[in-house]
Amino acid sequence: MIRRIDLRGADRGSASTIDYRAAVPRAEFDIEAATHAVQPIIDAVRERGAEAIAEFSEKFDGVRVDDIRVPAAALTKALDELDPAIRAGLEESIARLRTTCAAELEQDAVTDLAPGARVTHRKVPVGRVGLYVPGGLAPLVSSVLMNVVPAQVAGVPSIALASPPQKEFGGLPQPTILAACALLGVDEVYAVGGAQAIAMFAYGIEPCERVDMVTGPGNIYVVTAKRLLKGQVGIDSEAGPTEIAILADETAEAAYVAADLISQAEHDPLAASVLVTDSETLAADVEAELDKQVAATKHVERIRTSLTGAQSGIVLVDDVDQGVDVVNAYAAEHLEIHTADAAQVAGRIRNAGAIFVGSYAPVSLGDYCAGSNHVLPTGGCACHSSGLSVRAFTKSIHVVDYSREGLAAVKDHVVTLAEAEDLPGHGAAVSVRFS
Ligand code: NAD
Repeated sequence: MIRRIDLRGADRGSASTIDYRAAVPRAEFDIEAATHAVQPIIDAVRERGAEAIAEFSEKFDGVRVDDIRVPAAALTKALDELDPAIRAGLEESIARLRTTCAAELEQDAVTDLAPGARVTHRKVPVGRVGLYVPGGLAPLVSSVLMNVVPAQVAGVPSIALASPPQKEFGGLPQPTILAACALLGVDEVYAVGGAQAIAMFAYGIEPCERVDMVTGPGNIYVVTAKRLLKGQVGIDSEAGPTEIAILADETAEAAYVAADLISQAEHDPLAASVLVTDSETLAADVEAELDKQVAATKHVERIRTSLTGAQSGIVLVDDVDQGVDVVNAYAAEHLEIHTADAAQVAGRIRNAGAIFVGSYAPVSLGDYCAGSNHVLPTGGCACHSSGLSVRAFTKSIHVVDYSREGLAAVKDHVVTLAEAEDLPGHGAAVSVRFS
């Protein structure tokens, strides 16, 4: 069912990142078609506000929502009625995530360059953020935690969250999502999904005030809206349809590899599952396992579409070294390493949203409970972007604190450099203080 791509025997001498990028399948992200669908939504929300949002919810989510702000009572009720086992899972996940986020929190960097010459790199949390939690094909309660916890640890003072309205819940987001918000103390929640939610955050549509930055995962409509509105609003990364790449050798357990490929294919028909291996035997065993395991899954159709799509495949390579080059070029959102020396191989990976080392670190662990973040860059963006973290919710400001003595020590350099740029006024602004 899954296609094979054979890179064995490729001319390694001339192989470049670009060669492997082109050879390895990628999720079909038809930006033109998506832009065509999303730009009118953004324009309508900007021009007609709440009325347009209500129309799009009716059209795409099948429910008319007149008051998009989720009432406080609905949040409390959802938490009161939350299954204790789900609550325990959420609490464990929150605790682990908080621990890693606290460790990642950066301190101000204070540098004394000379007497009376100090520069401080001050860390400041973003003032107001809009967090997106998907709710189309699956209610991603885990995305509430992955967005909210780093924002809270970073110290963001104003947090709003949006998730699609659900017809079966009277136009509210899915109750577990509301319960997770209540558990984390987030009380500004909107029943709005897709591109219209991102536009609402970016423009500030009554009753939601404009935010400074939007974060969170979503489908192609959400990602395209983030791309189109970048600049009007800050964004984290393009965290779109999920991808998993697995680099494995003959020591890998085929049943685990197949299960992990399926676990991400389950997210979206556009999700990508890619196995890179130097073992023909493992490739055949994984194919057999896929046949067996896919038939037993709940979302068979979605998984089949994803695994048989152009974006998924088994890539055969000569050896693990070539595999490392291939996965570095592919820059997967999630990369699992199932090789004899997995930790050593992981150390050679430059491009991945997150790396999962060995047989007992499946991506599903990271989706919920590893203490890492699951909002990660897709579409090859992992070669320049990072997953969501405390850092994404923090910006920095250089604070320049010089005394007369400090300025005197460099004043001649400033004047000289200003003259070199033919900007004598710059130099004069320093000289005037010493004349
Ligand atoms: P979603 O909330 O992202 O999208 C649902 C919304 O899409 C709807 O509310 C609707 O407004 C909009 N929509 C649907 N059809 C539309 C159309 N034809 N035109 C315009 N808008 C339309 O939920 P989803 O669909 O389940 O997608 C979740 C996505 O998030 C999946 O692709 C999953 O792989 C991805 N994900 C990514 C990460 C990551 O970090 N990269 C993490 C988790 C999930």
